[in-house]
Amino acid sequence: MALKYCQSHKCHTYDTKDRKRGSKSNRVNQTRRRSEFYYGGGNFCSMNCYNDWASDFMDRAIDQVSGRIVEPITLTEENAWQKRYRYNWREGGGYDMGYFWYNSVSERTIDITKEEFDTQSQPRL
Ligand SMILES: [Zn+2]
Repeated sequence: MALKYCQSHKCHTYDTKDRKRGSKSNRVNQTRRRSEFYYGGGNFCSMNCYNDWASDFMDRAIDQVSGRIVEPITLTEENAWQKRYRYNWREGGGYDMGYFWYNSVSERTIDITKEEFDTQSQPRL
């Protein structure tokens, strides 16, 4: 199990027992290190650390990585397809899985196989 560090540049500034390292005379606080984190896509040890990072770097991440949204993005019939599944309950017990494409604009459905569910990225129209 690989350990990773919290990605906040301020993690070490929080004064908690688990961040302390060294003996009494030369004690320091360190960035937290864990096998798993649960904030910010698994990159931050706490909501505080995530917020510290976001307030200093989020604008740059949006402008330079994802691109800033400056006009609304629209959901249309063409880009509204989602893969879904349902339990088809059998009379007398048990069920089969049903797989289908669902268009949240037109509400049209297209039944597909499990293999198509696993492999298709767009419905075959
Ligand atoms: Zn942290």
